Amino acid sequence: MKKYLSVLGLAFAMAGAQQTTEQRIEQLLVQMTPEEKAGQLSQLNSDWEDLTGPIVQKGKEDKVALIREGRLGSVLNVRSAAQTRMLQEHAMQSRLKIPLLFAQDVIHGFRTTFPVNLGQAASWDLALIERSERIAATEAAAYGIHWTFAPMIDISRDARWGRVMEGSGEDTFLGTEIAKARIRGFHGKGIGHTDALLTTAKHYAAYGAAVGGRDYNSVDMSLRELHQVYLPPFKAAAAMGVSTFMNAFNDLSGIPASAHPYLLREVLKKDWGFKGFVVSDWGSIGEMINHGYAANGKDAAQKALNAGTDMDMESRVYAQYLPELLKEGKISQKDLDDAVRRVLRMKFALGLFEDPYRFSDLSREKKYTNHKEHLEFSREFGSKSMVLLKNKGNLLPLSKELKNVALIGPFAKETVANHGFWSVPFKDDKDRIVSQYEGLKNALPKSTKLLYAKGAEVEGTDTSLFAEAVKAAEAADVVVLSLGEGHAMSGEAKSRSMLEFTGVQQQLLEAVHQTGKPIVLLINAGRPLVFNWASEHVDAIVYSWWLGTEAGNSIADVLLGKVNPSGKLPMSFPRSVGQVPVYYNHYNTGRPASSPTNRNYVSAYIDLDNGPAYPFGYGLSYTTFSYTPITLSATTLKGNTSLRVSVKVTNTGKTAGEEVVQLYIRDLVGRVVRPVRELKGFEKVHLNPSQTKEIVFTITPEMLSFYDDQLVWDWDAGEFEIMVGGDSTTQNKAKITWEK
Ligand code: BGC
Repeated sequence: MKKYLSVLGLAFAMAGAQQTTEQRIEQLLVQMTPEEKAGQLSQLNSDWEDLTGPIVQKGKEDKVALIREGRLGSVLNVRSAAQTRMLQEHAMQSRLKIPLLFAQDVIHGFRTTFPVNLGQAASWDLALIERSERIAATEAAAYGIHWTFAPMIDISRDARWGRVMEGSGEDTFLGTEIAKARIRGFHGKGIGHTDALLTTAKHYAAYGAAVGGRDYNSVDMSLRELHQVYLPPFKAAAAMGVSTFMNAFNDLSGIPASAHPYLLREVLKKDWGFKGFVVSDWGSIGEMINHGYAANGKDAAQKALNAGTDMDMESRVYAQYLPELLKEGKISQKDLDDAVRRVLRMKFALGLFEDPYRFSDLSREKKYTNHKEHLEFSREFGSKSMVLLKNKGNLLPLSKELKNVALIGPFAKETVANHGFWSVPFKDDKDRIVSQYEGLKNALPKSTKLLYAKGAEVEGTDTSLFAEAVKAAEAADVVVLSLGEGHAMSGEAKSRSMLEFTGVQQQLLEAVHQTGKPIVLLINAGRPLVFNWASEHVDAIVYSWWLGTEAGNSIADVLLGKVNPSGKLPMSFPRSVGQVPVYYNHYNTGRPASSPTNRNYVSAYIDLDNGPAYPFGYGLSYTTFSYTPITLSATTLKGNTSLRVSVKVTNTGKTAGEEVVQLYIRDLVGRVVRPVRELKGFEKVHLNPSQTKEIVFTITPEMLSFYDDQLVWDWDAGEFEIMVGGDSTTQNKAKITWEK
């Protein structure tokens, strides 16, 4: 029987070229046993010691045997042309020769790494973001990878949540535009090209709204808030053909996202017509037992499959229980086949049935290892992601006349730390990542001496290194002080209840400040930190995130003025952790605060100035920009037409620079309460000194629309305020009346 089937398989494979993919899938399906189907829906981690060398079994389980039996559909965390080829060879020994899918978290670059994603978002530069994903896909695909678990498109307003480093911040519009740019970048010319990766919209849904900012925590919110704030990036991703969706770990309003029929069956697969497949998060199906939503593994598998989760990552319950559940009628043949079909479709789309080894190409792998152009791009992207928060007396860019510069701080000579949380480790990381010290050393003029002192550890209470740091500061004309949080302090399971500098870094800052030397503070972090003292006392502050492989060079380019900083904050920076969540697009209360310092923010605390430390959209440049008042094509409109909004922006300084021109709208009265303002457009514009450009935005009723309490997407006639400026506090306003 077995032999007969494999002969049949071969016949089908030979006939394959003339058939449509859907026919080929159906032919496979009729041959597959329930065990083989469950196998296609199972993904396991690679447990192999050396990801580039021969496969040495670590765990007890023989995964190679599973592959050869056709009982494993996908492997994650295997990343080299040689290994993926080797594993695929095993898959080709299986009865039906269904190729494996290799997945990897390619989140902020691969061999060449880029700023952590929140930093990338600070560039507000969609072309750069897209290009970074193009490069990441090209490199990862050359290492045999088919599928990235990216983009992560969770909106989050909570700086305590460690995974804000991986997303695009607090704003739905910006987050959606970035999500689309990332998918465009990963897909390139289209799935099927050997430099394109399958993508994952994750984590579906509302993972960024975990109570208290504690990772994995519950989320309970209205459907209106869910659809208005958290789902739009996912909806856009589905519309543009993202390959897969990944479940969130959290429960959403009482039901774990891994078995959420409303999210998966109704919204994603029915309303949005999603054709790809849904993968669970790591072990998240099995974790429904801990959630108290499944009695045991079998129950969990049943609930997840029935709700619409197609692939089980690492819970192992699909492989173990689906055949049994099918026999007992607890899952249907139709649902099981639908899930398998979705997975097979992706394997066909990649061209793996034609050539299972087409991604595992040693010569391409070699070509994209330390690729010069990619590194140059990373350097540029790093500098474009930095945000200048303060620059008193134009301390920056550093003068070429300086005799002595002291670089002080625990991050100064770090290499691997610049990689950020989700970087794939490679053996040569230490040698290839440019430290801040190295970057500055190479960029400073020969006549400037670079002094160095570590000053403190990132964590711990030891102050014994202060004396040396103070000595270096005293000998310098300017101090560059590099503080922040360790790169492993922002990321998955890295939520924090305090957002100040850790350890004795604040004391180090104060000790160095005592010397009276001008200080440029570089803040290395994956999230907004709280640093009010520094904002008050230090002359210049640059937010440098974690910038990736070329970090030191990117930083030197900005500090020395080779690149004029143009980043803008993608999240509001809190004044205190007690203020979190603080975000610009909140609703007004019935008693809005009115003090002049509160900008637009609600009054909430008696012991804290209202408003964030730095608002959403904020960032300085080495030049200055002026805006004309807003010009509107009309002040009253009727029906489904459009409004032209324009401003002229002029570079009023002496340096060429880039400004992110931001458009905000406020709907003054709605059938449900509306935010005090919402970002609806932006454009990054390059201006030479004295140059003026007109920036034009077109507003349509679609941009005025929102979900009401019945989940109807519509707009309300009435008055709207239009705002255009350089950050979310702009008072450059105009009013319109728009009737239906
Ligand atoms: C994370 C996912 C990631 C997966 C695989 C999980 O813990 O939440 O974002 O893709 O691991 O590494």
